[in-house]
Amino acid sequence: MKSVVVLGGGLSGGFLAAALVERGCRVVLFDDPATEGASRGAAGLYNVVTGRRMALTWGAPLLVAALDAFFASAIGRPLARFRQLLPIYRPYPDAAMQTLWARRFLDPEYQPWIAAVDRPIAPDRYHNPLGGFLVQGVGRVQVAALLEALFALLQAGGQFERIPLRIDYTTIDPESRRIDKGGACWPFDALAFCEGMAAAANPFWDIRPLVPLKGQVLRIAAPNLRESEVWVGEGVFILPEGEGIYTLGSTYETRFTSTGPTPEGRQLLLDAFQRLLPHDPPPQVLWHWANLRPATVDHLPVAGEHRHHAGLFFLNGLGSKGVLHAAAVAPGLADWIAWGRSEALHPAFHFYRPVMVKLKANTG
Ligand SMILES: Cc1cc2nc3c(=O)[nH]c(=O)nc-3n(C[C@H](O)[C@H](O)[C@H](O)COP(=O)(O)OP(=O)(O)OC[C@H]3O[C@@H](n4cnc5c(N)ncnc54)[C@H](O)[C@@H]3O)c2cc1C
Repeated sequence: MKSVVVLGGGLSGGFLAAALVERGCRVVLFDDPATEGASRGAAGLYNVVTGRRMALTWGAPLLVAALDAFFASAIGRPLARFRQLLPIYRPYPDAAMQTLWARRFLDPEYQPWIAAVDRPIAPDRYHNPLGGFLVQGVGRVQVAALLEALFALLQAGGQFERIPLRIDYTTIDPESRRIDKGGACWPFDALAFCEGMAAAANPFWDIRPLVPLKGQVLRIAAPNLRESEVWVGEGVFILPEGEGIYTLGSTYETRFTSTGPTPEGRQLLLDAFQRLLPHDPPPQVLWHWANLRPATVDHLPVAGEHRHHAGLFFLNGLGSKGVLHAAAVAPGLADWIAWGRSEALHPAFHFYRPVMVKLKANTG
């Protein structure tokens, strides 16, 4: 039985640990209790028509199929209650986008994912004068609750241990394949780094650095909003959480001076809410949270084995699609770690793909 250490207990580490256990590995997962990762407060929305350009996400069928496969697997099935299928409504922001979408409805790539909405929804309350369309086959995952339940399930299976401890990189010896910390020693056949943005300090990281993409999110109380779909418009989403509570998010900040929640971030989200619901009073803010998404220059995850240290692996760069990317990358990387099948990882996710290596060389 292969012994694998996983460093990080967010979406990357959680999905990878599950895939490794499924492949017969014994997994010890370290998760720093003092560093709150991006996964803990992520809204968990997964969507395939994203951004202001409202374009189909790269690899949409592959990504959604991977998430479906997780929830259909022996480990994922008992966790199905943490995923809700929920259509996402996208109002047209202007006439040009409406015209563009008239063509996209004829595009076979888009057709499985979208349904036209003939007239504006609840126009007396919601600003969507041109109508819009529904994205279907998508939804949300309750990330923090899913991860807790996943770890409990894996622990009960006997092949998995989760240790709330920060591992310093200096305690990792890639040659003898062991971690020595405070008198304790953890030998490993493979170690997978899944530390999210904390990987900025990882000395084994030898490709272009991750791009931190700050996000802020609010939980709001706003009685009588629609609950049958998620609204994505004016640069924000409104996700129903039940009982008059909604998640309003998220900001996408490439420049920031603090990593925590800011009054500006809160106002930006509330202003967008007001544009979508111009007649409503401002909602009551119950919770305000911020964190850094670990992103890459081409917005795809990075995974693979270190070129000079056999046995050291990486899974990172999930960006704003943490749920879909974790589900899509983990099985391929687990095949590689458990069985040496490097070809199982989609080349688009490869740690040393040209864009991640070449640009590093260019920037010195
Ligand atoms: C505001 C916001 C909203 C978001 N909304 C969505 C959304 O709706 N849908 C979606 O799919 N994605 C969303 N994301 C993106 C998603 O959260 C991230 O892509 C994902 O959480 C990254 O997961 P990760 O496991 O790579 O990193 P993290 O979740 O950051 O996990 C890394 C873990 O590693 C641990 N760690 C770090 N260093 C060490 C060490 N040395 N030793 C031990 N442990 C260590 C940390 O404690 C942490 O628990 C959102 C992000 C933000 C900030």
